[in-house]
Amino acid sequence: MGSAEIVIVGGGISGLSLAYFLLQKNPKLDIKIVEAEKRIGGKIVTENVSGFLCEGGVNGFLSNKPSTIALAKELNIEPLRGSESSKIRYILINGKLTRVPDNPIKFFLSPLLTFSGKIRMLKEYFIPPIKENIDETIESFVSRRVGREFYEKLIDAMSTGIYAGDPSKMSMKSCFPKVYFLEKKYGGLIKGLIALKKEKKDAKAQPSTVLMSFKGGMKELIQSLESRLSSRILKGKKVLIIDRTNNYYSVHLEDGDIVEAERVILACPAHESAEILQVLSKELSDILKTIPYPPLSVVAFGFRREQIGFGTSLYGFLIPYREKRKILGTLFDSSIFPNRAPEGYVLLRSMIGGRRAPELAMLPDEKLIDTALSELKPLLSIKGEPEFIKIFRWEKAIPQYEVGHEDKLNLMEQILTKFPWLYLTGNAYRGISVNDCIENSLKLADKF
Ligand SMILES: Cc1cc2nc3c(=O)[nH]c(=O)nc-3n(C[C@H](O)[C@H](O)[C@H](O)COP(=O)(O)OP(=O)(O)OC[C@H]3O[C@@H](n4cnc5c(N)ncnc54)[C@H](O)[C@@H]3O)c2cc1C
Repeated sequence: MGSAEIVIVGGGISGLSLAYFLLQKNPKLDIKIVEAEKRIGGKIVTENVSGFLCEGGVNGFLSNKPSTIALAKELNIEPLRGSESSKIRYILINGKLTRVPDNPIKFFLSPLLTFSGKIRMLKEYFIPPIKENIDETIESFVSRRVGREFYEKLIDAMSTGIYAGDPSKMSMKSCFPKVYFLEKKYGGLIKGLIALKKEKKDAKAQPSTVLMSFKGGMKELIQSLESRLSSRILKGKKVLIIDRTNNYYSVHLEDGDIVEAERVILACPAHESAEILQVLSKELSDILKTIPYPPLSVVAFGFRREQIGFGTSLYGFLIPYREKRKILGTLFDSSIFPNRAPEGYVLLRSMIGGRRAPELAMLPDEKLIDTALSELKPLLSIKGEPEFIKIFRWEKAIPQYEVGHEDKLNLMEQILTKFPWLYLTGNAYRGISVNDCIENSLKLADKF
């Protein structure tokens, strides 16, 4: 039997950053990070195969939130900005890849929306806000305010791109709180955007938002945290359950070991926390089980540049559900960041599966590859076969914040008050991005 003041379950970015922040505040804290896998990092996994630097999960983080950049600075590692071509994005509209304009004037001149779709979008200014604080789906909120066409062509694709989710189930309030509250605060989205622009004009000019990573990929962040925390990390130690006796939590590991701790933070996925908590609180466990985690596969392809007729200087493309395709979208990793592919080659990564097509994510390897290529080849005018292929499978990929998510969080918070020094953190609750995970760890560390 071992012991620690604090046990953190899960060595993904949430658990690791939390341990780092706690130790920054008090280096004497006795902390153990217990990780089920032989490697740490969770959904951050970077592999260098045949000269292709592949991200199996997390691709990067956005520059518009400070938390990851600030942590990188503290760790003395240099973030890498996405290239200019990473601003060039496409959406599949009526079978054709259509460029997403980067300013409002170009948007109104582009063929992305029909004339009536554009007029409907402008009418948003005159649509009165809903007064009640209802938990509406993304589909309902966006169609009501900006019109069905805008929703189906743009927002559906965006929701899929971030969450691999189903916007007819996802909660607007929980997934895109800033946009949701524009209606509440300013009476509408256009009104809100105008007001924000005015506020920003008065403040210092902000550089535009870009995707960021590191030269060695996202694993650089994990390696840097590991080098500072290594003596405290227990790898290959799955936590089965926790229970509580005499003001101590007993953390039961799969290998039969037990770690006693005064404080426990579960920084693992909600479905795992549900298992771990079933003895301590069935009530909490039952709520955690209701957060869906659909499967998602990432299929990486390496092509010679000249094989791709469409061109290669772009971020990638997304596919709205209405197009009825079998991939959710594809990123041109080697155009976003340098050194992702050998000279003369292009690294593409396609996403398959998600909430609306879970069965596709789990197709056998050959079928998965054929499915992705049968979509990619005609869309990008690709000649010949890829010279490099790598599949990353996530059986339980991204937590879905569906309608009722906030109620679940409130209820869980109430139940947790019965268990002193027991916390839940990670991407299942208040923000799924790496930026959100780090920011939430920082906030949680402040409670200690
Ligand atoms: C394919 C994919 C692409 C993504 N791309 C991006 C992106 O580009 N940008 C972005 O910001 N976000 C992205 N995300 C979201 C990303 O998952 C999160 O932002 C973040 O990495 C989650 O970190 P976490 O530590 O909360 O959870 P996880 O990374 O899931 O880590 C949880 C850890 O807990 C461990 N664990 C589980 N059960 C137990 C147990 N019983 N005992 C001990 N340990 C346990 C796991 O092994 C894991 O290491 C992506 C997600 C996926 C799946």
